[in-house]
Amino acid sequence: MDLLTATSLPASQPRPTHVKVDLDAITHNYNALQLHSGVKVMAVLKANAYGHGIGVVARHLEAAGASAFGVAYLEEALLVRALGVKTPILVFGGVVTPQIPDFLRHDIQLAASSVEKLEHINRVAAELGVRAKVHLKIDTGMERIGTHYYNCGPLFDAAKHCTECDVEGVYTHLANADSEDLAHTHVQLERFNTCVSALADTLGFMPVRHVANSAATIGLYAAHCDMVRSGQALYGALPAPHLAGRVPLKAALEWQSSVVFFKVVKPGHPVSYGSTWETERNTRVVTVPVGYADGYPRRLSNQGEVVIRGKRYPVIGRVCMDQIMVDIGDDEAWNGDPVTLVGPGLPVSDVARLADTIAHDILCGISARVPRFYHRSGQPVQP
Ligand SMILES: *Cc1c(COP(=O)(O)O)cnc(C)c1O
Repeated sequence: MDLLTATSLPASQPRPTHVKVDLDAITHNYNALQLHSGVKVMAVLKANAYGHGIGVVARHLEAAGASAFGVAYLEEALLVRALGVKTPILVFGGVVTPQIPDFLRHDIQLAASSVEKLEHINRVAAELGVRAKVHLKIDTGMERIGTHYYNCGPLFDAAKHCTECDVEGVYTHLANADSEDLAHTHVQLERFNTCVSALADTLGFMPVRHVANSAATIGLYAAHCDMVRSGQALYGALPAPHLAGRVPLKAALEWQSSVVFFKVVKPGHPVSYGSTWETERNTRVVTVPVGYADGYPRRLSNQGEVVIRGKRYPVIGRVCMDQIMVDIGDDEAWNGDPVTLVGPGLPVSDVARLADTIAHDILCGISARVPRFYHRSGQPVQP
């Protein structure tokens, strides 16, 4: 380990704040999503597998037979490859042209989002004497990356002429699949289907069509096409309350800490920075060693809840960098009692709602300072 660039050293007993990942839950969710959709499932591993640990999750899912992986950046794909994982990996993000050789050398699939990018990929593949595997990216209403649906003809023609490229897929991304109102989603689907109907004629075959994120995988059969791309649902997070009960998902992650300090605060005494909360009566307050530097959102100041001894209690005052305070009223808690930040009795979707954000933001926000521990068949496993 390089001490100069490390941020801490392990102690003989770790600080109590940690994440516990149940690998069985991830395979359970993968299989449930496959059963529900009836098509291939691409497991989305970006952002450190939504905080669950990209290396361990990639290895685990490959061993479980996952057919495809998706990540955001080339560097994430390189890590997965460096671990010896052979499963196809697509990088969703816009191709950074100087990185094309790295994609090709490591057999990583590229999102071909414009004629120019596609032709660039083709030239580099010719220079290196290798095949490039591409997924044509159509923009049907997200306005992020991709060729506009009304310009897909030239992209498809270019794909036909890019002799060093294997067109493995064609896809688009939905902007509103988690909404109860699916009007825009149907418009996007219609645009995509119209677009790709010409592709088989141009190429002489139909590559793998994929559209659905977790929300559309759960809620919209029409979007399943040949493959779905699932991130949050794979980790057991429900994309929206109205999608509950359709696919049996298990939360894969628990974020735990423990009580490190207990006190009684007298009436009229404010708690934490800025004195934004004040006791009205004698109350018991415990301190928990987690803060915004661990990714516990500062937005949870006076909004958050934690579970101690099976009961939810409010986070009072501002979330500090490394600590939070919790009001347990007249109840009992002892130093060392476990505190659930995300887990049984407190699903990540609830925490996200309290922080006025989405589950992704909470999960991938859990910082590198928080150690991850893994479990399989109820037993701890050493990654
Ligand atoms: C992140 C991402 C997904 C997965 O989204 P979830 O809502 O987490 O399932 C799918 N497709 C693309 C292109 C993405 O960027």
